[in-house]
Amino acid sequence: MRIAIVGAGPAGATAALALSRQGTHEIVLLDRDSFPRVKTCGSALSPRCISLCHTLGIETTMAPLAYPVSGLRFTGPSGRQATLTGKAGGAWIIPRARFDAEIAFAAERFGVRFEQGFKATTLVRDPRGRVAGVSDGQRTLEADLTLVADGAHSRFSSDLRKKRQIATLMGWWEGVEGVLPGHMEMWFDRRVAPWYGWLFPETTERVNIGIYYRPEDPVPPKDIFGEIVDRHLGRRLRKATQVQKYRGAPIVYTEEIGEVAAPGALWIGEAARLTNAATGEGIFYAMKSGVIAAELIARHGITDGDRLLTAYRTAIQRAFTARFLLALGFMRFANTPAFSLLTSLVAVPPVQKTLTWALEHV
Ligand SMILES: Cc1cc2nc3c(=O)[nH]c(=O)nc-3n(C[C@H](O)[C@H](O)[C@H](O)COP(=O)(O)OP(=O)(O)OC[C@H]3O[C@@H](n4cnc5c(N)ncnc54)[C@H](O)[C@@H]3O)c2cc1C
Repeated sequence: MRIAIVGAGPAGATAALALSRQGTHEIVLLDRDSFPRVKTCGSALSPRCISLCHTLGIETTMAPLAYPVSGLRFTGPSGRQATLTGKAGGAWIIPRARFDAEIAFAAERFGVRFEQGFKATTLVRDPRGRVAGVSDGQRTLEADLTLVADGAHSRFSSDLRKKRQIATLMGWWEGVEGVLPGHMEMWFDRRVAPWYGWLFPETTERVNIGIYYRPEDPVPPKDIFGEIVDRHLGRRLRKATQVQKYRGAPIVYTEEIGEVAAPGALWIGEAARLTNAATGEGIFYAMKSGVIAAELIARHGITDGDRLLTAYRTAIQRAFTARFLLALGFMRFANTPAFSLLTSLVAVPPVQKTLTWALEHV
């Protein structure tokens, strides 16, 4: 059976890797870009994402590329700060250029045909309306199943609801002072509530700094960024050099999982709006949905299409609904005076414990 995967981010590349190991399908992984390519992303991998890398057998490839994180410098809306300690190496930062390429090239080593520079423009349909492949306007690749993994801007979304988005802006610096080794920084600043600004170290020298903010905010993004960074880094930036220009991209999230399957196609990752509304985490959700798709293809096959579609819809609901509800609850809580009050007590050990737990589980 032929499977076409549109998009080689963590969703598409992971699905390709997991499917390639089944050794039963002819798989083509398509991306408009050439890899490695820069992706606008904080590049933080949560503990659940690391554990998925372990399950996929890529943990040992990824570990040497990772900046290991064991704690978080937290700043609440009141400006109170605390250093929260987690498990040593419990989270990783791996720049996405490397991370995504490693997964896609691993899939290629297992026999996937990885076509770069292929920009899909149309999902090709048969006379009954079933997705039967993909085209870039010049060439059509026929497929028995198409996995749509083209990310936040998905041009093939099957979900007709209005998109809910987090706006972002980020950049990369070297030489920021006072970065605590092994620690990320998150600033839950009122200006961008319910979201936050961050500093994530990629190496001992280089950090990425960004903000998540409301898309309807009328102020120019760089001004919001400047205000947050001044407040939280201030003089720590005076000897720092910006090493890569600003980049912004939306994060698409959903309050309720929408349509993720249609005859001949499954949607995975951010193309299916599978991200965490509170934290903006999307890599885990992308990879996990790719793994779920691959497992169900192995179990149900492709020819009995209806069983596969129903099983995939159900599995995605089961895997993510509770997590999304928790994320939405946290996001709403982060916008209340109660959050501000709780985090103003962040120096108190039981509050620290509760907050560490909440951030780990959201
Ligand atoms: C500023 C920012 C910071 C973030 N920080 C984090 C973080 O620290 N941790 C975390 O877990 N998540 C983070 N996220 C979210 C995360 O980046 C995404 O949720 C994740 O990349 C989704 O993976 P994906 O594979 O679904 O899509 P993507 O990673 O977007 O991959 C989609 C791929 O499809 C390709 N493509 C698109 N259109 C076409 C087409 N027509 N034809 C062919 N190819 C196409 C693209 O080139 C791309 O390679 C962040 C997002 C942003 C914007």
